[in-house]
Amino acid sequence: MSTPHAEEFTGRRVTVAGLGVSGVPAARALHRFGARVTVVNGADGEPARRQAAELEEHGIAVRLGDDRTLPEGTELIVTTPGFPPSSPLFAAAAEAGVPVWGDVELAWRLRGPDAAPWLAVTGTNGKTTTVRMLAAILEAAGLRTEAVGNIGVSLVDTVLRQEDGEAAYDVLAVELSSYQLHWAPSVRPHSAVVLNVAPDHLDWHGSMAAYAADKGRIYEGNRVACVYNTADPVTERLVREADVVEGCRAVGFTLGSPGPSEFGVVDGILVDRAFVEDRHHRAQELAEVSDVATGAPHNVANALAAAALARAFGVPPAAVRGGLRAFRPEAHRIEHVADVGGVGYVDDSKATNTHAAEASLAAYDSVVWIAGGLAKGADFDELVARSAKRLRGVVLLGADRHLVRQALRRHAPDVPVVDLDRTDTGAMAAAVGDAARLARPGDTVLLAPACASMDMFTNYIRRGEAFAAAVHALTGGPAAGER
Ligand code: ADP
Repeated sequence: MSTPHAEEFTGRRVTVAGLGVSGVPAARALHRFGARVTVVNGADGEPARRQAAELEEHGIAVRLGDDRTLPEGTELIVTTPGFPPSSPLFAAAAEAGVPVWGDVELAWRLRGPDAAPWLAVTGTNGKTTTVRMLAAILEAAGLRTEAVGNIGVSLVDTVLRQEDGEAAYDVLAVELSSYQLHWAPSVRPHSAVVLNVAPDHLDWHGSMAAYAADKGRIYEGNRVACVYNTADPVTERLVREADVVEGCRAVGFTLGSPGPSEFGVVDGILVDRAFVEDRHHRAQELAEVSDVATGAPHNVANALAAAALARAFGVPPAAVRGGLRAFRPEAHRIEHVADVGGVGYVDDSKATNTHAAEASLAAYDSVVWIAGGLAKGADFDELVARSAKRLRGVVLLGADRHLVRQALRRHAPDVPVVDLDRTDTGAMAAAVGDAARLARPGDTVLLAPACASMDMFTNYIRRGEAFAAAVHALTGGPAAGER
């Protein structure tokens, strides 16, 4: 065990804010290094009780039902990403002069001298897809790696597995959310990308400027490349503002023809004009657009970003092609469910904000769009105005559907709209039935809600499953769970 900072926790009173996939490993690690750990968690339902019981068995104190009060004597808070900076817990910590780290910060500090470098990915949309593409490319190059972080794999666990000799990694493909970056001031990736920055989670961050600044932290201390999106000037500005290691390069990616120091597309070929000799006159072919799953433009952009990070790490061109071919998209992200009567049914339940839904709609020419849910303060005007020409019809459901409806009245007044006026779980079956009636052969019925799911479903996965089950019911095909 070569973790250098482990001793600093001995006897220290640490409060872990939140259970779940990041809180439980953080609490365990701190306890193992001799800290006196108390976990606080707002929810006290069955899942929380189960996790609490498990931790208590190891001698870790857990307080359920109160995540606002700072436990007596706390010297450090390690928080999970769910807590907004405005949480009363942090106000109390600030008053008492108690530092706050995220679990990602803890993971970074637990790395030993031989720890694997991080290739890091953030952005409003496309993180999981890109980080999985990146891991596939690194694997194709024969490197020992894993996709970790916000993807649902605790970085604390990952780092400790390597320090304990249970796993060996050459490099990690790390997904980081803006929440995680907010609380991770020491993290210094080898190279990183901000895929895009569009309004989302503003309730958590307080403002667009604060949200962008948290995303921009991913570039701090990069050694080889800061990768940005040439179509999104905010990402380029964040690179300019970052404090990086001398010699670290800014590398753009574009769906168009790339300039020097960029990755882009020429005649259906993904090319690298950054990590080649004589980049002013030469380009390196990496893969074809047809090697990228679904071929949707936003996934080509994600593939370019992944390729740029892999090439920054020295991966050969053939591995980029091999990795992209091996990559399989995750469920509920532009997932083709079935064709019924010449109409395609596509589940993009993961399109939980307007920026994602716009990218999703842009992949099809004639769409019956199923939308609505929890808007999280979003504005739907731009999305509807830019997508209006593709809409055969719209079916609305969920708590904030009136906001989408108002935008449709303003920007697509001639498009037929079915307003289901329902927020019960069964509404999805009705939505699919109405969408089927609106669709004509050649159309796509697309679930891309532009909203979060929690008004009607446990999460976007359940929402996508309800959609798929309703589609299969149209055909008498397999029920959910049998697929
Ligand atoms: P994240 O992990 O950031 O939520 P995912 O890879 O899971 O991203 O994709 C979420 C959704 O965002 C997809 O279902 C798709 O609708 C949309 N999306 C993916 N990549 C992009 C992109 N580069 N730009 C815009 N939207 C995207």
